[in-house]
Amino acid sequence: MFDNLSDKLDKALHVLKGHGQITEINVAETTKEVRRALLDADVNFKIAKEFTNRVKEKALGQNVLTTLQPGQLMVKIVKDELTQLMGGESEGINLSGNPSVILMTGLQGSGKTTFSGKLANFLKTKKSKKPLLVACDVYRPAAIDQLHVVGDQIGVPVYSDRENNDPVAIAQAGIAKAKAEGYNVVIIDTAGRLAVDEKMMAEISDIHKGIQPQETLFVVDSMTGQDAVNTAKAFNDILNFDGVILTKLDGDTRGGAAISIKSVVDKPIKFIGTGEKMEAIDVFYPSRMADRILGMGDVISLVERAQEQFDEEEARKIQKKIAKNKFGFDDFLSQIQQIKKMGNMKDLMGMIPGAGKALKGLDIDDDAFKHIEAIIYSMTPEERSTPSKLDASRKKRIAKGAGREVQEINQLLKQFDQMSKMMKMMQGGGGKKMMQMMGA
Ligand code: GDP
Repeated sequence: MFDNLSDKLDKALHVLKGHGQITEINVAETTKEVRRALLDADVNFKIAKEFTNRVKEKALGQNVLTTLQPGQLMVKIVKDELTQLMGGESEGINLSGNPSVILMTGLQGSGKTTFSGKLANFLKTKKSKKPLLVACDVYRPAAIDQLHVVGDQIGVPVYSDRENNDPVAIAQAGIAKAKAEGYNVVIIDTAGRLAVDEKMMAEISDIHKGIQPQETLFVVDSMTGQDAVNTAKAFNDILNFDGVILTKLDGDTRGGAAISIKSVVDKPIKFIGTGEKMEAIDVFYPSRMADRILGMGDVISLVERAQEQFDEEEARKIQKKIAKNKFGFDDFLSQIQQIKKMGNMKDLMGMIPGAGKALKGLDIDDDAFKHIEAIIYSMTPEERSTPSKLDASRKKRIAKGAGREVQEINQLLKQFDQMSKMMKMMQGGGGKKMMQMMGA
């Protein structure tokens, strides 16, 4: 996420970060570089200029030249300004209605349907809500199918009416169904076009007026940079929406949309999408995002994700197995599944302070565990529960089955052994103790 921008800002701030002599000239030089980095990230020219002027003003006002650690002060000033630019505080969504109606809007391909599913799943699993999804795209039958697939995946019902070609009526019928059947959140997925056009705008405006949602969210693909900002402006002029959802941040190396959108439409970014899976949704926190952009990592989000996946019952089961020396490869596999649920490896690594830079250029496989899983799947149940049974001929057979080298099986056995020992040492506190060690 935002690799290019992070890199350039790091370079821009490098002179001041070191202990070289700080002068008014190199403060000016640094802010110029910061501006260039923002422009390269596809931040609007005016915003980039105002941003660097504020940074310079603050830096000189706080006597950055005479402080003991001018570099750190400068980084802090840039961080605070970035946070402000992206909205300051995190803002949640309004769920006060009964049912609360959330209208999803945006161009086709922005990630609306995917995000509708992610939000329904988030509200169901994290906020104990009972959501209903409503498919209002009357032009593309495939869009209705897609929402049904998403709904099935997360176990949330979908209301659709393929006979009806009036999206306002479908939305209203969806809300009526929610009221009658006790759903407390209705998420309405609407049709998008490839570009802003009058007919689409008129339709979305009609739906908006017809249902008066508590929350109108505008979904936009962050990878489209300035286009994203312009589209946001067009939708906001018509709908006066409540918040922005930035999707595909996992593929966005520049970050221009994330940085400029708030100041152009003056609406908060509420959530971000960081992958295609239903779990790849995060509440947007401007200050955490600023930390990530400046390569400071995001330990808070990392620990939160670990806590979310921490399953007390599973942990207790595993503890018992360790105590009885019965921890096997099936348990190892279920631990891997839990880690995988936290997000893709690249994303997780990016949350560790400094790791982004250290790992730069390394090709981290999104599915870093796939070889290990293949090896374990090639074992018999007996071998999984009693790894000591793995002699040379069994190892050879497993290696062949998984399409890996015997050497890798040995390596995995070694890792497994070390992990079992470590877990035994941690006995008593279990996963919770590990979380405390991580500073949670
Ligand atoms: P819609 O036309 O606005 O409903 O867009 P879709 O929900 O169909 O999404 C378009 C494509 O973007 C699909 O292939 C999604 O899997 C993909 N997509 C959606 N959100 C994300 C995201 O956060 N990250 C990535 N990498 N892909 C996404």
